Amino acid sequence: MSEFQSALDLVQSTLRDLRDMGVELRASAESLERLANTKTATSASVVAEASPGSMNPATTPAAPKVTSKPVEAKPTEPKPARPQVASPVVLESRVAPLTGSKAERLDAMRGPVLACTKCPHLVKSRTQVVFGVGNPEAELMFVGEAPGEDEDKQGEPFVGKAGQLLTKIIETMGFARSDVYIANVLKCRPDMPPGMPGNRKPKAEEMQVCLPYLREQIDIIQPRVIVALGATAMEGLTSSTDSMSRLRGRWHDFQGTPLMATYHPAYLLRNQSLSEKRKVWEDMLMVLEKLEKPITEKQRNYFLQK
Ligand code: URA
Repeated sequence: MSEFQSALDLVQSTLRDLRDMGVELRASAESLERLANTKTATSASVVAEASPGSMNPATTPAAPKVTSKPVEAKPTEPKPARPQVASPVVLESRVAPLTGSKAERLDAMRGPVLACTKCPHLVKSRTQVVFGVGNPEAELMFVGEAPGEDEDKQGEPFVGKAGQLLTKIIETMGFARSDVYIANVLKCRPDMPPGMPGNRKPKAEEMQVCLPYLREQIDIIQPRVIVALGATAMEGLTSSTDSMSRLRGRWHDFQGTPLMATYHPAYLLRNQSLSEKRKVWEDMLMVLEKLEKPITEKQRNYFLQK
């Protein structure tokens, strides 16, 4: 068997393994052409794209970032030894280019995300996709679970009653709403039975499908701190199903970025006690400390029992 054939066998079996693991694989025409033109095993490479569905080929980067560790060939008994392949299989799920300013890269993401049809039931029910809003250079990013009815109508996250309270919290921290970035795990409003008012929690599967978009937004913005608003947002980000009473008030990690969990503002609207407001405020004081922002005595003492 030629070296090239061995390398091709390795690539094919690795792609089969990835498919069996549930990774949705797409190879770009460019990658296939490169593979077809490969002369020797040691220069063979394939870019396998785990697509979030609405990938726009126009925005596919020329030099994809490695988003997963090189996939190692599993040892199998009867097959001949596999040669080492210099370029690893690269998993790619990006919709934005890797170059340009943060604002340009976020803008480039917007089109593909707004056109996403990954969840047909949500495509049918949504008015519009809610991409995210704020400063592309933000140090601080707030992540909610999903758009509600108001957000679905206006196309902006956190604009309803809970959103107005979030804006107050942001301002009490000493920021303007436009200083931070606000996004949701799910970009579409979870569908409701016809005629049923209110909003429902996004399902874990829905969040998983949509999470690559949020991950990419975070990767572009590179905030110094992320705040997860509510246990559902936390589940979307970390898969943790712990209660917020156990999650809040301490630091977690989202792919290297400090992550604070706190109660969703909608919870505070339902539980207006000083003690619950203070808990959220203490979480925000920890965020301000992490960001090395000056904290006034007045700020320190908000929502303390008199
Ligand atoms: N709740 C959320 O989690 N996100 C919004 O955008 C609005 C309400």
